[in-house]
Amino acid sequence: MAAVLRVSRYTPDADARGERYEEFDVDTGPETTVLDALVDIQRTADSTLAFRYACRVGMCGSCAMVINGRERWACRTRIASLKGATVTVRPLYHFPLIRDLVVDMTPFRARMATVGAALTRTPDAPEYAIVSRESAERREIDEAIECIGCGMCVSACTMVARNERFPGPAALNRAFTLQRDHRDADTDARWSVLLSDDALARCHGQGNCTDVCPMELAPPTSILRLRRMATRRLLGIG
Ligand code: SF4
Repeated sequence: MAAVLRVSRYTPDADARGERYEEFDVDTGPETTVLDALVDIQRTADSTLAFRYACRVGMCGSCAMVINGRERWACRTRIASLKGATVTVRPLYHFPLIRDLVVDMTPFRARMATVGAALTRTPDAPEYAIVSRESAERREIDEAIECIGCGMCVSACTMVARNERFPGPAALNRAFTLQRDHRDADTDARWSVLLSDDALARCHGQGNCTDVCPMELAPPTSILRLRRMATRRLLGIG
Protein backbone atom coordinates (compact mmCIF):
# COMPACT_ATOMS: atom_id res chain seq x y z
CA MET A 1 0.00 0.00 0.00
CA ALA A 2 1.05 3.58 -0.49
CA ALA A 3 0.12 6.81 1.20
CA VAL A 4 1.08 10.44 0.96
CA LEU A 5 2.26 12.20 4.11
CA ARG A 6 1.64 15.94 3.94
CA VAL A 7 4.01 17.29 6.56
CA SER A 8 4.27 20.79 8.00
CA ARG A 9 7.78 22.18 7.59
CA TYR A 10 9.42 25.16 9.21
CA THR A 11 13.06 26.09 9.69
CA PRO A 12 13.64 29.14 11.90
CA ASP A 13 15.59 32.04 10.39
CA ALA A 14 16.44 30.17 7.19
CA ASP A 15 12.80 29.92 6.17
CA ALA A 16 11.39 33.28 5.16
CA ARG A 17 8.27 31.56 3.84
CA GLY A 18 7.22 30.50 7.33
CA GLU A 19 5.31 27.27 7.76
CA ARG A 20 4.54 25.29 4.63
CA TYR A 21 3.56 21.73 3.73
CA GLU A 22 5.66 19.18 1.86
CA GLU A 23 4.37 15.88 0.55
CA PHE A 24 6.18 12.56 0.78
CA ASP A 25 5.18 9.21 -0.73
CA VAL A 26 5.47 6.37 1.77
CA ASP A 27 5.00 2.61 1.51
CA THR A 28 2.72 1.34 4.23
CA GLY A 29 1.44 -1.93 5.61
CA PRO A 30 -1.61 -2.56 7.79
CA GLU A 31 0.40 -1.86 10.97
CA THR A 32 2.46 1.12 9.74
CA THR A 33 2.07 4.04 12.12
CA VAL A 34 2.48 7.74 11.38
CA LEU A 35 5.68 7.64 13.45
CA ASP A 36 7.01 4.71 11.34
CA ALA A 37 6.34 6.77 8.21
CA LEU A 38 8.06 9.88 9.61
CA VAL A 39 11.12 7.84 10.60
CA ASP A 40 11.17 6.31 7.10
CA ILE A 41 11.01 9.75 5.48
CA GLN A 42 13.83 10.99 7.71
CA ARG A 43 16.01 7.98 6.83
CA THR A 44 15.34 7.77 3.10
CA ALA A 45 14.01 11.08 1.76
CA ASP A 46 14.89 14.07 3.95
CA SER A 47 17.22 13.75 6.91
CA THR A 48 16.44 17.32 8.00
CA LEU A 49 12.84 16.50 8.92
CA ALA A 50 12.49 17.26 12.66
CA PHE A 51 10.04 15.55 14.99
CA ARG A 52 10.14 14.30 18.57
CA TYR A 53 9.66 10.79 19.91
CA ALA A 54 11.08 8.59 22.64
CA CYS A 55 9.41 5.35 23.76
CA ARG A 56 7.68 4.45 20.44
CA VAL A 57 5.15 2.33 22.31
CA GLY A 58 2.47 4.74 23.49
CA MET A 59 3.76 5.54 26.94
CA CYS A 60 5.67 8.82 26.97
CA GLY A 61 3.56 11.12 24.78
CA SER A 62 6.61 12.74 23.17
CA CYS A 63 5.30 12.13 19.64
CA ALA A 64 2.11 14.15 20.20
CA MET A 65 1.13 16.02 17.05
CA VAL A 66 -1.94 17.00 15.05
CA ILE A 67 -2.78 14.30 12.51
CA ASN A 68 -5.63 14.91 10.08
CA GLY A 69 -6.83 17.78 12.26
CA ARG A 70 -6.85 15.95 15.58
CA GLU A 71 -4.29 15.65 18.37
CA ARG A 72 -2.90 12.11 18.50
CA TRP A 73 0.26 10.26 19.38
CA ALA A 74 2.03 9.34 16.15
CA CYS A 75 3.35 6.01 17.48
CA ARG A 76 -0.16 4.69 18.15
CA THR A 77 -1.85 6.04 15.03
CA ARG A 78 -1.94 3.49 12.23
CA ILE A 79 -2.12 5.05 8.80
CA ALA A 80 -4.61 2.39 7.72
CA SER A 81 -7.01 3.61 10.43
CA LEU A 82 -7.15 7.12 8.92
CA LYS A 83 -9.52 8.10 6.17
CA GLY A 84 -8.13 9.03 2.75
CA ALA A 85 -4.83 8.38 1.01
CA THR A 86 -3.25 11.63 2.25
CA VAL A 87 -2.30 12.07 5.90
CA THR A 88 -1.74 15.64 7.06
CA VAL A 89 0.64 16.11 9.97
CA ARG A 90 1.30 19.39 11.80
CA PRO A 91 2.74 20.40 15.19
CA LEU A 92 0.62 20.90 18.31
CA TYR A 93 -1.28 24.17 18.52
CA HIS A 94 -0.72 26.78 21.25
CA PHE A 95 2.99 26.05 21.69
CA PRO A 96 5.93 28.01 20.21
CA LEU A 97 7.21 26.25 17.11
CA ILE A 98 10.88 25.25 17.15
CA ARG A 99 11.20 23.38 13.87
CA ASP A 100 8.95 21.28 11.59
CA LEU A 101 6.87 19.16 14.03
CA VAL A 102 8.82 20.07 17.18
CA VAL A 103 7.30 22.53 19.63
CA ASP A 104 8.69 24.17 22.75
CA MET A 105 7.01 22.58 25.80
CA THR A 106 8.18 25.32 28.18
CA PRO A 107 4.68 26.90 28.40
CA PHE A 108 3.31 23.53 29.53
CA ARG A 109 5.71 23.44 32.48
CA ALA A 110 5.01 27.11 33.20
CA ARG A 111 1.26 26.43 33.37
CA MET A 112 1.93 23.56 35.79
CA ALA A 113 4.10 25.83 37.92
CA THR A 114 1.33 28.43 38.02
CA VAL A 115 -0.92 26.04 39.94
CA GLY A 116 1.87 24.72 42.19
CA ALA A 117 1.97 21.28 40.60
CA ALA A 118 4.33 19.64 43.11
CA LEU A 119 3.17 18.03 46.33
CA THR A 120 4.30 19.94 49.44
CA ARG A 121 3.91 17.65 52.42
CA THR A 122 2.44 19.01 55.61
CA PRO A 123 5.00 18.89 58.44
CA ASP A 124 3.01 16.26 60.31
CA ALA A 125 2.36 14.04 57.27
CA PRO A 126 3.47 10.44 57.89
CA GLU A 127 6.50 9.29 55.91
CA TYR A 128 4.34 6.78 54.10
CA ALA A 129 0.80 7.89 53.40
CA ILE A 130 -1.89 5.45 54.34
CA VAL A 131 -4.81 6.16 52.02
CA SER A 132 -7.44 3.49 51.72
CA ARG A 133 -8.12 2.32 48.18
CA GLU A 134 -11.79 2.47 49.03
CA SER A 135 -11.76 6.10 50.16
CA ALA A 136 -13.49 8.74 48.02
CA GLU A 137 -10.26 10.75 48.05
CA ARG A 138 -8.27 7.88 46.58
CA ARG A 139 -10.88 6.98 43.97
CA GLU A 140 -11.28 10.57 42.72
CA ILE A 141 -7.54 11.16 42.56
CA ASP A 142 -7.00 7.84 40.77
CA GLU A 143 -9.23 8.97 37.92
CA ALA A 144 -7.00 11.98 37.28
CA ILE A 145 -3.50 10.83 38.04
CA GLU A 146 -2.22 9.19 34.86
CA CYS A 147 -1.30 12.38 32.98
CA ILE A 148 1.86 11.89 30.89
CA GLY A 149 2.31 15.57 30.08
CA CYS A 150 1.92 15.16 26.34
CA GLY A 151 0.25 18.55 25.81
CA MET A 152 -2.49 17.28 23.49
CA CYS A 153 -5.23 18.71 25.71
CA VAL A 154 -3.57 22.12 25.73
CA SER A 155 -3.37 22.04 21.94
CA ALA A 156 -7.06 21.15 21.67
CA CYS A 157 -8.33 23.66 24.24
CA THR A 158 -9.99 26.73 22.77
CA MET A 159 -9.72 28.66 26.05
CA VAL A 160 -5.94 28.29 26.01
CA ALA A 161 -6.02 29.99 22.63
CA ARG A 162 -8.02 32.93 23.99
CA ASN A 163 -6.43 33.51 27.39
CA GLU A 164 -2.74 32.95 27.99
CA ARG A 165 -3.25 33.23 31.77
CA PHE A 166 -5.65 30.26 31.76
CA PRO A 167 -3.70 27.31 33.25
CA GLY A 168 -5.29 24.87 30.81
CA PRO A 169 -6.70 21.36 31.25
CA ALA A 170 -3.59 19.44 32.29
CA ALA A 171 -2.58 21.94 34.99
CA LEU A 172 -6.10 22.18 36.40
CA ASN A 173 -6.38 18.41 36.38
CA ARG A 174 -3.10 18.20 38.30
CA ALA A 175 -4.27 20.91 40.70
CA PHE A 176 -7.32 18.81 41.53
CA THR A 177 -5.20 15.81 42.50
CA LEU A 178 -3.28 18.00 44.96
CA GLN A 179 -6.26 19.92 46.38
CA ARG A 180 -7.93 16.58 47.05
CA ASP A 181 -4.80 15.13 48.68
CA HIS A 182 -4.95 15.62 52.45
CA ARG A 183 -1.16 15.46 52.70
CA ASP A 184 -0.59 18.65 50.69
CA ALA A 185 0.26 21.87 52.53
CA ASP A 186 -0.15 24.37 49.69
CA THR A 187 -3.90 24.26 49.23
CA ASP A 188 -4.54 27.87 50.36
CA ALA A 189 -1.95 29.28 47.96
CA ARG A 190 -3.34 27.10 45.18
CA TRP A 191 -6.92 28.23 45.87
CA SER A 192 -5.88 31.84 45.40
CA VAL A 193 -4.72 30.94 41.89
CA LEU A 194 -7.63 28.64 41.07
CA LEU A 195 -10.24 31.19 42.19
CA SER A 196 -8.70 34.08 40.28
CA ASP A 197 -10.47 35.44 37.20
CA ASP A 198 -8.42 33.36 34.77
CA ALA A 199 -8.57 29.81 36.11
CA LEU A 200 -11.54 27.67 37.17
CA ALA A 201 -14.08 30.24 36.02
CA ARG A 202 -12.75 30.23 32.47
CA CYS A 203 -13.35 26.58 31.54
CA HIS A 204 -16.47 26.32 29.41
CA GLY A 205 -16.67 22.54 29.65
CA GLN A 206 -16.35 22.09 25.89
CA GLY A 207 -14.48 18.84 26.49
CA ASN A 208 -12.00 18.94 23.59
CA CYS A 209 -9.35 17.96 26.14
CA THR A 210 -11.24 14.80 27.05
CA ASP A 211 -11.76 13.91 23.39
CA VAL A 212 -8.03 13.92 22.61
CA CYS A 213 -6.43 12.74 25.87
CA PRO A 214 -4.54 9.52 25.06
CA MET A 215 -4.79 8.43 28.70
CA GLU A 216 -8.57 8.85 28.64
CA LEU A 217 -8.49 11.44 31.41
CA ALA A 218 -11.31 13.93 31.79
CA PRO A 219 -9.91 17.28 32.96
CA PRO A 220 -13.42 18.86 33.00
CA THR A 221 -14.42 16.35 35.68
CA SER A 222 -11.47 17.49 37.81
CA ILE A 223 -12.44 21.12 37.16
CA LEU A 224 -16.03 20.40 38.20
CA ARG A 225 -14.81 18.71 41.38
CA LEU A 226 -12.57 21.69 42.13
CA ARG A 227 -15.52 24.03 41.68
CA ARG A 228 -17.58 21.94 44.12
CA MET A 229 -14.72 21.93 46.63
CA ALA A 230 -14.34 25.70 46.24
CA THR A 231 -18.06 26.26 46.78
CA ARG A 232 -18.04 24.16 49.96
CA ARG A 233 -14.97 26.03 51.15
CA LEU A 234 -16.55 29.43 50.49
CA LEU A 235 -19.67 28.32 52.36
CA GLY A 236 -17.53 27.09 55.23
CA ILE A 237 -18.72 23.50 54.91
CA GLY A 238 -15.64 21.88 53.45
S1 SF4 B 1 -4.39 15.40 30.54
FE1 SF4 B 1 -4.22 13.87 28.89
S2 SF4 B 1 -3.92 15.09 27.01
FE2 SF4 B 1 -3.52 16.46 28.74
S3 SF4 B 1 -1.27 16.38 29.04
FE3 SF4 B 1 -2.21 14.83 30.42
S4 SF4 B 1 -2.19 12.91 29.22
FE4 SF4 B 1 -1.84 14.57 27.75
